Amino acid sequence: MSLDYQAYLASREWAVRKRAVRERADGQCERCRFLQPETGTVYFKPMYAVHHLTYAHIGNEPLEDLQAVCRECHDFLSAVADQDPIQDARDAQIAGAILAFVGEKKGVDAEQIIAALQVALAAFRSEGQEPSNYALAGRAGVALGLWETY
Ligand SMILES: [Zn+2]
Repeated sequence: MSLDYQAYLASREWAVRKRAVRERADGQCERCRFLQPETGTVYFKPMYAVHHLTYAHIGNEPLEDLQAVCRECHDFLSAVADQDPIQDARDAQIAGAILAFVGEKKGVDAEQIIAALQVALAAFRSEGQEPSNYALAGRAGVALGLWETY
């Protein structure tokens, strides 16, 4: 990175842009989301940094060039971590939607789904694992009798 870029990142102009992105994103990651077992809802992780989707307009970026990202997304995009949280985010959306869809067809209500998610999370943690969204929804679905395996 050039000295000019470092100077820009320390500038008032960049601070103003970052604040605008934070306001647009309501302080949440604009890239990924997670299934929250405690409530059965999908939630957004807190914003940690502002990511450049492109460096084409560096120093004069339209806000569309910028994305609020959480710590995990930032680490993946910066190649600090290999795990892309967006895959888990897709899994959360898909798994949550399937749980709700199949649950409704089989007469399982949201409270039962939430309870099963909580039990599944506790079970994974008792095994020393931090499950992916998909694994969590998979195990909850088995416990609810929505499917036999995942
Ligand atoms: Zn994220």
